[in-house]
Amino acid sequence: MVTWTSPGRGYVTSPFGPRRTSIPGATTWHRGVDIGAGGKPVPICSVGPGVVAAVGNNTFRGLWVVVRHDDGSHTTYQHLAVRLVTPGRRVRAGTQVGRMGHTGTGSGIHLHMEAFAPNVRWMQNGTGWSSAGATAPDVFLRQRGIDLGRALAGAGPVREIGEARAAPTAEKPTARPPVPHEEDDEMIDAKEMLQITYRQECGRDATEEELYPRLRRVVAAEDPRAQLATEVDSVDASTESNRFVVRTLYQDLLGRTGRVEEWDHWLEMVQAKPDKRLDDKAHEAIVKGIKESEEYRAKHPEG
Ligand SMILES: [Zn+2]
Repeated sequence: MVTWTSPGRGYVTSPFGPRRTSIPGATTWHRGVDIGAGGKPVPICSVGPGVVAAVGNNTFRGLWVVVRHDDGSHTTYQHLAVRLVTPGRRVRAGTQVGRMGHTGTGSGIHLHMEAFAPNVRWMQNGTGWSSAGATAPDVFLRQRGIDLGRALAGAGPVREIGEARAAPTAEKPTARPPVPHEEDDEMIDAKEMLQITYRQECGRDATEEELYPRLRRVVAAEDPRAQLATEVDSVDASTESNRFVVRTLYQDLLGRTGRVEEWDHWLEMVQAKPDKRLDDKAHEAIVKGIKESEEYRAKHPEG
């Protein structure tokens, strides 16, 4: 009886561990393994028995699925083109959870898979999770009797949902493409680079609402590296701390963080002041403004 398997068919395009990035002088730790299949949207399955713990969708990870295995470990599957399971669903090794894709940030079809040992808690945070504590998926599988490279090449079962039994005749992936697309991980690097900048400039971590508009511009740019440099340069301590205060005000007054466009309205007001400072007077004006616009919204719900 097979207890564990590979997440599908393909080959490793980027292993777990330290790697160089496109950002000069920077290295990052790749917290998962990237698996490609020659651009084919192959089925992705749970590597072992367990229960679907959570599913989601976010800017970086795209459509994702996390399985909590019976031994207390967790495995995660991201960038899926389609997701085929919902939380609470019982899975076995080889139960299909989705299809390889390139949702989230990335230009190539691949799976980014992470593994967390039984003694490491998988922790959801926002629309994703913390990758801290992730272990090398190949080592994780080796400890469970699976050679990832060999299994990816076709040694394990793949059970398509809706099919009674696996058709173990899944086509063999074509040879590794000459230029693997790993932009997705470049974006993760970009996120780290921006976080480092926020820590240096503002003495705190950036919020998701601060990061994502910047990262979206990086993703959309013709020259992402140049755009990242622009974004890094434009992290300005006074503007960022003003934005942070406005965001906090929204949270305190309305119980939500507000939208970027909403903050920008107030930030423009502060930036237009000769000293550009969010002093007590400006603070008061913003509090009043937020309350008034919320009252207006309550009276004109369709507007
Ligand atoms: Zn990856």
